[in-house]
Amino acid sequence: MTVYLSKDAEKFLSGLPVAKSFLCKNYGDAAAFAKKLGFPVVLKIISRQAVHKTDIGGVRIVNSMEELQKAYLGMEKSAKSRKIRLDGLLVQEFVKGTEIIIGIKKDAAFGHAIMLGIGGTLVELIRDVSFRVCPITEKDAESMINGLKLKNLFYGFRGTKLNAGRLKAILVKVSKIPARYKKIEELDINPLIVNDKEAKIVDCRVVA
Ligand code: ADP
Ligand code: MG
Repeated sequence: MTVYLSKDAEKFLSGLPVAKSFLCKNYGDAAAFAKKLGFPVVLKIISRQAVHKTDIGGVRIVNSMEELQKAYLGMEKSAKSRKIRLDGLLVQEFVKGTEIIIGIKKDAAFGHAIMLGIGGTLVELIRDVSFRVCPITEKDAESMINGLKLKNLFYGFRGTKLNAGRLKAILVKVSKIPARYKKIEELDINPLIVNDKEAKIVDCRVVA
């Protein structure tokens, strides 16, 4: 079973900070929730047939009600023309910060391992990652962060001081998920967006 950041993913991510999100069934829902959040907001296609939303134009940052309406209708239309069955369109709060990847993978030899990577889509290019076997302690989480080439982003690099405390707590919690859901093959939080004050999950994929 593969689940996405929707109602299905909530059980895996319980206790973790997820960006405020609402899965909308029509434009009225989207307008009401966007009004509650305030602009900018992010609009996303949610469907089991669209794992990589960006590839199909399924992620848009919108800055006004007019843009939201246009994007909403556009995404509905594009899903229809691609024959993608929508669960709905997600309206999500916009989170500013640096993109972090946290992954869990089941390994035949070690059991579940946790991966921390920095740089969002650039992760594959810069290969700045560290791994540990699950579960981990706060101390392990700290050493994972300190194992990154870009670790100085957490300690004050040119005005950037990402909240390491929040990230550590999240890493520890994520590392305990496999103990509750032993069948998890893969869990990808990509990205968790971290800034100086907070850290929020904006996208997650689970294969269980
Ligand atoms: P997918 O990985 O399926 O293409 P994501 O939900 O990860 O879709 O969104 C793609 C990219 O859009 C993210 O990697 C991030 O750069 C940006 N993004 C997504 N949601 C948000 C958000 N709530 N706030 C800020 N940026 C976001
Ligand atoms: Mg993603």
